[in-house]
Amino acid sequence: MADPRGFLRTRDRELPTRRPVPVRLMDWREVYEAREKGTLDVVSRQAGRCMNCGIPFCHQGCPLGNLIPEWNDLVYRGDWEEAIERLHATNNFPEFTGRACPAPCESSCVLGINQPAVTIKNVEVSIVDRAFEEGWVQPVEAPRQTGRSVAVVGSGPAGLAAAQQLTRAGHSVVVFERDDRLGGLLRYGIPEFKLEKRHIERRLEQMRAEGTRFRTGVDVGGSGEGAISVEDLRARFDAVVVTTGASRPRDLPVPGREATGIHPAMDYLTQANRQVEGDTLEDAISAEGKDVVIIGGGDTGADCLGTALRQGARSVTTLAIGTQPPTERTEDQPWPMHPVLFEVSTAHEEGGDRSFLASTTGFEVGEDGGVTGLKVARTQYRDGKRLPTPGTDTVLPATLVLIAMGFTGPQQEGLVDTLGIELDGRGNIVHDQEWETSVPGVFTAGDCARGQSLIVWAIAEGRSCAAAVDRHLMGGTNLPAPVRSGERAIAV
Ligand SMILES: Cc1cc2nc3c(=O)[nH]c(=O)nc-3n(C[C@H](O)[C@H](O)[C@H](O)COP(=O)(O)OP(=O)(O)OC[C@H]3O[C@@H](n4cnc5c(N)ncnc54)[C@H](O)[C@@H]3O)c2cc1C
Ligand code: SF4
Repeated sequence: MADPRGFLRTRDRELPTRRPVPVRLMDWREVYEAREKGTLDVVSRQAGRCMNCGIPFCHQGCPLGNLIPEWNDLVYRGDWEEAIERLHATNNFPEFTGRACPAPCESSCVLGINQPAVTIKNVEVSIVDRAFEEGWVQPVEAPRQTGRSVAVVGSGPAGLAAAQQLTRAGHSVVVFERDDRLGGLLRYGIPEFKLEKRHIERRLEQMRAEGTRFRTGVDVGGSGEGAISVEDLRARFDAVVVTTGASRPRDLPVPGREATGIHPAMDYLTQANRQVEGDTLEDAISAEGKDVVIIGGGDTGADCLGTALRQGARSVTTLAIGTQPPTERTEDQPWPMHPVLFEVSTAHEEGGDRSFLASTTGFEVGEDGGVTGLKVARTQYRDGKRLPTPGTDTVLPATLVLIAMGFTGPQQEGLVDTLGIELDGRGNIVHDQEWETSVPGVFTAGDCARGQSLIVWAIAEGRSCAAAVDRHLMGGTNLPAPVRSGERAIAV
């Protein structure tokens, strides 16, 4: 155990300082102050609060089964090099989860029953950042080559995790990505101020050195330039892993939707992320000087908010159709569940208004065909449905509207249709307990199979899928499988 009295001596969570709002709105860098000498002592003190529980519920809360008490103990004792070994034993990319994960491990931390939970996520990111700085993150070479080959389609966290595991098992792995840069939603969904893209680059460098090959600009099953047919891929590789994400945006088909100035959130975020990468885009969607309304109060909405504020929006309002969540756990969300609470993300801290119980009933359209406003009614709950209350419509000025209402599954035209892969009632790719789709030799993991989810689930599923592919190719495997197919977080 790190420190038997640690949780008694230090009762509060200590987290890194965030840069002042006016300063951070002037750039795209991560919102936290650069780590300085001395802050690692704070991390060690926080790690020392860990009680090394007999039943560490943090393991259960984390889909990856991260060995949290082990690395808390090592950090407390100052053995950071061994800590990264234990962290990498279960997580290929702690620099992504340590920055952007909602940390279900902290929600299920036993200390959280009557004290603030251990700052697990900050310990995690501190370990991996230090490891990169010290040069402890080195390529892990496969002990031998198997002579078998695997194509991974899609370079989000699920595809990258599967590719790294399979490369390390000795297979020849090629990742095909239709975008011009690698990383999936880590690259073009999540903004730089939450996850600087240099973190993706340095991990890719390790993967390339290990032998994973990457092909960008290749739309598997597509028809444009650089497309490659699915038959070609199946003929060239012994197994195919489909990790193409859930990219079909949920739309809002209400009167006026055809107006210009109304965009799916991902169109907006992708362009903004590209510009931060240095691309010059013609007619890019910009929030500068506009009254922006974001429909959807989740993480994607918050990412749009932070982006719009940095672009110089005149006003930003986020609308959520449901009630404002509670600030504390309620009886129907007991420990160790990950509760839905009222979240003030770093973007919310930076500005904008939030409105709950707001149902959009239509858009107002100007003479030039551009959106000028939103008609919003108060939501009422009827027969379990969320509906607008008649006679409560008000008009909200809007010259840019971003629809951040989630996704309805993987894109079907192209790869899914050509392969004839079976989909479930929600439009997600069906697979069996061995992560194999209805097409023999084609496996799947991540958002395209699970539905819109989290980075940590994508990595966990990518690892489990890799174990199944290795078993399929070799008749057995030593690769770990942290989650079973179809596994969900604990809920009541
Ligand atoms: C705006 C936004 C913010 C988010 N923020 C967070 C967060 O803070 N924390 C968190 O935990 N989760 C967050 N998520 C969710 C998280 O990003 C996803 O759950 C995760 O990225 C899913 O990983 P994946 O590998 O399954 O798919 P993706 O990351 O979607 O990657 C799929 C890749 O497949 C490629 N592809 C698709 N079809 C083809 C094809 N035919 N040929 C070649 N390539 C193809 C795509 O171009 C893409 O690069 C966020 C999601 C969004 C949209
Ligand atoms: S549940 Fe919390 S206190 Fe217990 S081992 Fe995990 S991190 Fe430590």
